Amino acid sequence: MAETMDGVKLVCATCGQANRVPRARLAEGPKCGSCGDPLLDGKVAELDAATHDKVSRGDGLPVLVDYWAPWCGPCRAMAPEFAKAAKMLAPQARLMKLNTEDHPAISQRAGIRGIPALILYRNGRELARLAGARPAAEIAAFVRQSLG
Ligand code: ZN
Repeated sequence: MAETMDGVKLVCATCGQANRVPRARLAEGPKCGSCGDPLLDGKVAELDAATHDKVSRGDGLPVLVDYWAPWCGPCRAMAPEFAKAAKMLAPQARLMKLNTEDHPAISQRAGIRGIPALILYRNGRELARLAGARPAAEIAAFVRQSLG
């Protein structure tokens, strides 16, 4: 991955602020310079329409987005597995989720036909996607294999 003097760009999932974090400090729990929320703490961050677009189109780290909805049983069943995978993959990748019931236009644009659906973004574009509920180990393996 390209590295610059001014660090890795991490978009804050809470406020949308783009932060620059030196690569050597990614594992040290960086926080957003604007709102103070953690940027990379191994937890699943919740996206809205604006932060989804900022993250998927220009984050400096790979981002895996879980497209889910509260009415979807398999989605709810996968949530703790997705949370485990987030811990396994930090600080190489960030895991986030988008509620497709609240943001149907986003999932339509992403071509989501069924949920849960996982899309891995890297360098501002889609790298790979995975459909259906998966255990944590499978989610982590999918991301690692996709990133090479
Ligand atoms: Zn923030």
